[in-house]
Order: sequence, then structure tokens, then C-alpha cells
Amino acid sequence: MGLKFSVLYLGKMEFPKFRLVQCPDEENMVRSPAVAILIQHPELGNILYDTGNSPAFADVYTPEMLHNYPVTELISIKDALADKGLTPHDIDHIILSHLHFDHAGGLQDFVGTKAIERVIVSEEDLKNAYFSVMTGNGGAYIRSLFDVEGVQFRAISGDTKLAEDLELFVQPSHTPGVIGMILKTEHHGTVITTSDTIYTRESYEQELPPGGTINKTPEEFYDNLKRIKKMEQDYQATLLFGHDYDQIMEWVEKGWMD
Ligand SMILES: [Zn+2]
Repeated sequence: MGLKFSVLYLGKMEFPKFRLVQCPDEENMVRSPAVAILIQHPELGNILYDTGNSPAFADVYTPEMLHNYPVTELISIKDALADKGLTPHDIDHIILSHLHFDHAGGLQDFVGTKAIERVIVSEEDLKNAYFSVMTGNGGAYIRSLFDVEGVQFRAISGDTKLAEDLELFVQPSHTPGVIGMILKTEHHGTVITTSDTIYTRESYEQELPPGGTINKTPEEFYDNLKRIKKMEQDYQATLLFGHDYDQIMEWVEKGWMD
């Protein structure tokens, strides 16, 4: 028996497409889903990858965030887990791809659970998050979302094998270290999650770098894209992108994949 996983839809943000990927169209709007992945692993237990937006977004997010990336639908990670018959106490490990508000926003729901002492992040992103918020340049980081009561980060740097069928890799793109995941399943082959280094299938296939102000240079995007293309080949993998509404909805529909 191998692992099984399920993609959880946690609502969405809606904003002009040029803030997601570089495109000339000023009018076109895009739906950007917030996503988590729930993994049930025979040895490691229940693992949660990302936690979505904060239910307190209206009070906690900066005016700039609320203006540029308005949350138009919110499903809390608690509710999404309840849908699978679980509570935050059932989660054994949390992996945060990075600490931006729409990925770390649900961490508060795990205060007081065992998982809050087992939060895997990349060392590079963790340092960047604290440096950013403590120097007044938070960007997409909000300290109160990730610096929650009792949190213990397990910082990784580079490729990390959690199990034979579950590996993490760190991408220096979008932030200094976004955790991607390699999931090896029995019946659905290998799945690689990119998180925010590649937002959508269109961005991947047409090599459209991200738009907006969050991503510093397109070079890191192209370098990482090259690496992901090689990994896709090497693992004969299916890719799951960070904020691709159509793909996310399709995978949510599939339910558990093993
Ligand atoms: Zn991000």
C-alpha cells in the first residue's frame, strides 16, 4: 500500500491576469485558487502541504494585498479537512511550500496540535520571511500568519527525502526557496507539485514568466522552468501547478488519488 493524496480547494482570489503571468491584456481577469494537498502516507501519517488564505484576511492582510489579490471566496483549511473527515489534530506533519499569505494563512488553525511542532519549510524562505517582515518590507509575508503560538519549523535546504515515495525539492524562484514535492503513487504515476514557481499550465507551456511585483526577475523563473522540464522527463511525471484554476478544479474532482 502506497500513499494517497487529495487536492483541497480553499477558495480563490480574483484579479487582472497580468498580476499572475506576464501578458499584454489589461482587462482579462483570472481566478487564482488557494490550494492544499492532503497526503495519507502509510509510514508518515497525515501530511498537509499548504494551508490557504487566512479566514481573518479582511482584518490581517495589508491594504495592498486586499487591493491587488482580493479574496473572493474562502474555504478554511479546517472546513476542507472536515470535508475529509479530519480535524487539525489528525495532521501529523505540515509542509509549507513557502510562507506567503495564501499558503501559510491557515497555520493558526493548527495551534495546539502536534503538527504545529512539525512545520517543514525551506531555510531560505524562512530566513527571507523573517528578514522581510522585520525590515518593513513584508511583501506577501505577514508575520502573524506564520509566527503563530508554539510553531516549530523544521527547515530543509535542498532535496529532502521524507520517504521512498515522497521527496521534497527547493526552488530558488518566486522566493529564495519554494518547496516542491515529488509524489510517487501506485496507480497515477509520479506527480510533481511546483507551487508558486509556476502558477499555471499556460505559464509552463508558453514559458510566460510571472507578472506583478512579487517576482523579482524572470531569469530565476526560466532557470527553474528548465529544471522542472527535466524533472518531468526524468520522472515521467504529471505536474500540478500553483494557481491554475482549471487544473485544480479538475484534480479536486478526482478525489483521492493513489
Ligand atoms: Zn507565493
